[in-house]
Amino acid sequence: MPAFVTDAVVTQTRRYGEADRLVTLFTLERGRLTAIAKSSRKPTSRIRGATETFVVAKFEIAEGRSLDIIRSAEIINPNLGLRDSWTRIQLAGHVAEIANKITDERFPDAEFYELIIEALQKISDGDNTAVIRYKGRILNNMGVFPDLTGCSGCGSGKVRGDVHLDVHGSGFLCADCADESHVFHPVDMDALYILTAVRDGAEPIKSYDKATWDRAEDVLTILLQSFMQQNLKTASAARHARSTENDRENISSTGDDINPVQEKSEPEIQ
Ligand SMILES: [Zn+2]
Repeated sequence: MPAFVTDAVVTQTRRYGEADRLVTLFTLERGRLTAIAKSSRKPTSRIRGATETFVVAKFEIAEGRSLDIIRSAEIINPNLGLRDSWTRIQLAGHVAEIANKITDERFPDAEFYELIIEALQKISDGDNTAVIRYKGRILNNMGVFPDLTGCSGCGSGKVRGDVHLDVHGSGFLCADCADESHVFHPVDMDALYILTAVRDGAEPIKSYDKATWDRAEDVLTILLQSFMQQNLKTASAARHARSTENDRENISSTGDDINPVQEKSEPEIQ
């Protein structure tokens, strides 16, 4: 059975069978793939720790006929800081969901891998706006970040005051053009400034309040969902977590239904 070794981050786990897990990995060498971690839910398993969500590890993976099999794993970064707060779990779960949905299976993308690793590290360090920069960088890298300098409707380069995001289109509209659009999302200049900074991978030079970050993030979520043609289930919980930071730091006070890292059972695949 051929095998390969790759660094990878665990972006999703599901219970499988009696004691196995199906583990979705974003690997450095081969992009996103799902492998089975046999017996990894047993307390004695040597790959138990490495096959938890958000862990970064070096995996040895055998190519099976139907499913790849994780043979061994050596933890590089357990990302333990992501497990001790409700806020960080929500934010990291959002990072993982985007990676799972927007990337093609088995399509190597070292730049995307680094984006995930960096975002998880920053969230682990307590930087809650890292998830917004992550979303901006993804849109920019995919070439779908709309022009922020002018109206995509009439071509006017004079963007003053509030502009509008064409929810089903790809750009921002001036107030005149947005009047004719059926679905649009208002964007103010401060939020546009944040969007410009995150697109360029820069830090916003001013500090903005949470509501402004919320408005900037809403634009990025709309753009991502429009690009993917599907909803991000973790978006509202992540936004709420960021906005209510420190209000709910105790994991034990939360319900399992909103915990994105909770393992779900998977029916047996023959
Ligand atoms: Zn216009």
